[in-house]
Amino acid sequence: MRIYADNAATTKISKRAAEAMTVCMEDLFGNPSSLHADGQKAAEALKAARESIAANIGCTEKEIYFTSGGSESDNQAIISAAMYGKARGKRHIITTAFEHHAVLHTVRKLEKEGFEVTYLDVHGNGIVNPAELEAAIREDTALVTVMYANNEIGTIQPIDKIGEICSRRKVLFHTDAVQAAGHIDIDVERSKVDYLSLSAHKFHGPRGIGVLYARKRNQLFTLIEGGAQERSRRAGTENLPAIVGMAAALEEACEKMRDNSIKATSLRNRLIDGLLKIPHTVLNGDTAHRLPGNVNVCFEGIEGESLLLLLDMKGISASSGSACTSGSLDPSHVLLAIGRPHEIAHGSLRLTLDESNTESEIDTIISSVTEVVDRLRKMSPVWDDLEKGIKKHVI
Ligand SMILES: *Cc1c(COP(=O)(O)O)cnc(C)c1O
Repeated sequence: MRIYADNAATTKISKRAAEAMTVCMEDLFGNPSSLHADGQKAAEALKAARESIAANIGCTEKEIYFTSGGSESDNQAIISAAMYGKARGKRHIITTAFEHHAVLHTVRKLEKEGFEVTYLDVHGNGIVNPAELEAAIREDTALVTVMYANNEIGTIQPIDKIGEICSRRKVLFHTDAVQAAGHIDIDVERSKVDYLSLSAHKFHGPRGIGVLYARKRNQLFTLIEGGAQERSRRAGTENLPAIVGMAAALEEACEKMRDNSIKATSLRNRLIDGLLKIPHTVLNGDTAHRLPGNVNVCFEGIEGESLLLLLDMKGISASSGSACTSGSLDPSHVLLAIGRPHEIAHGSLRLTLDESNTESEIDTIISSVTEVVDRLRKMSPVWDDLEKGIKKHVI
């Protein structure tokens, strides 16, 4: 039996979501835009899904736009706020150094088009300081975009405080809540968010489907032209089975949030305690303001990639950082942003658990990682230098 500990990359679809999708595919095959009875039946299911998702994040159904996922939602939110700002002479954007690439690459593209971007420091603990954010706001700031929870180190940002500041300073605020959904109680009113991104496959829904919440009266720039779907802001026949599956998954995740969070937090703490017993190991990201299932550590003197391969051979699915950057030899931009030196950032391991993991799985992970790290260090010339005192230990 394999152990799956890579829930930040994607999650297994829940039974409830899969069943809702099957029913939808078999019975609701009509196009929601068609006027006949089959189309109307599909349109009703689409409306119900929209209402359910709206209720779970505290908005109205008219503020929900279905997209192809977290990346598209991030792109559309940021480009919309930027275009709106540009028309009013505002060409400044505030973000953080450790956003997901869907955000970072979008703001970089805007930089090339003449926008100025401030990248806020996320400090050693991986948390933005709201006072620094407020100090960065200028007359010409068009948008603040700060993620709700980080996908690599799991740190939870002070979103309510940031929302309060942006609302008081009349600056649009977007948050990528892809990792937060299903783990943190999201309420766009309480947090005073203008735009918020969700992705179903991160909360046990299907992939290729997401949500962009856009506060009423906030502009949405259209990225995909065509039909009048999503109130003419996102063309293309709705992916109804995926939308229905996403609504079912979010309902279930929100219903079970408290229990699941208690379970995952206890497993996470057991895993952190076990891994930190390995010498010269450090936890990345704040301990308290952290997603329930997230563990991210650096081991001195090893390569994360080799560690992953050996763990995979032992039946453990883990990650060295974000799935999107694996295959590249650069260390994680998130770990560099919290000040880890290159050689330490290279020795990272991310294990993201959920409520279905067991204590015995955690103990297996701890013993496997301990054994593999020891084996890799014995083969490493860098470790040899550290042990002989030729190089100094950093952690
Ligand atoms: C996974 C992820 C995304 C991208 O979502 P997709 O649906 O895969 O496009 C964006 N932001 C964060 C924080 C993520 O974890």
